[in-house]
Amino acid sequence: MTEEKKVLKMEDVKAMAEEKKCTVQQALSFVEIFLDGPMCGRCFPCSMGSYEARIRLKKLVSGEASEEDLAVVKMIAATMAEASMCKKGKDTAKFILDNIDSEEFTGHITGVCAPNQCAAYAKYIIVPEACTMCGDCLAACKDHAIIGEKAKPWASGIHPFEIAQKRCTQCGECLKVCPDNAVRCLSVKDFAEKETVGV
Ligand code: SF4
Ligand code: SF4
Ligand code: SF4
Repeated sequence: MTEEKKVLKMEDVKAMAEEKKCTVQQALSFVEIFLDGPMCGRCFPCSMGSYEARIRLKKLVSGEASEEDLAVVKMIAATMAEASMCKKGKDTAKFILDNIDSEEFTGHITGVCAPNQCAAYAKYIIVPEACTMCGDCLAACKDHAIIGEKAKPWASGIHPFEIAQKRCTQCGECLKVCPDNAVRCLSVKDFAEKETVGV
């Protein structure tokens, strides 16, 4: 006997989406859970709108979106709010519309995820002056992106650790383990500015 899939209530969809710490990820999560559950497909603005919104929101989370994608998501949500046949579609639209004009949301098209939740927008660096060459980050990095040699009591001179950006997968483990607060997480935008001025 096959077990029937329990359809989530909209308040559950909202609560699950709100577990994410970034508003764009919240919107994407809401739409994904909605599409997988309560969305019934009986009306076009909601069904097609949700599918297209999911595509555009995924682009926003993965750092591939343009202003046009943001405008399209807004247009879809406005249409869903107006023309969806039932409250479920309207609630989904409202969840998107409540956040889409916020700085945190729009920041994603300028290379910034303010709460540092979207890996595509994060760059990890080691501040040389703060690094004590303890080697904890080297041990924590599964992607072999840390370059450096642990300090030896008999060796003099400071050779701070570095992060090879091409190998870094933005997992954030080095930041968690550094005992000296030498690892920092920058937005892609701040990182580019820092590179340009050579700070
Ligand atoms: S708005 Fe309601 S009726 Fe229309 S597809 Fe969405 S869930 Fe179904
Ligand atoms: S963020 Fe992850 S992959 Fe990048 S250097 Fe740190 S531990 Fe390695
Ligand atoms: S964990 Fe911090 S202090 Fe230790 S080597 Fe890495 S960056 Fe330097």
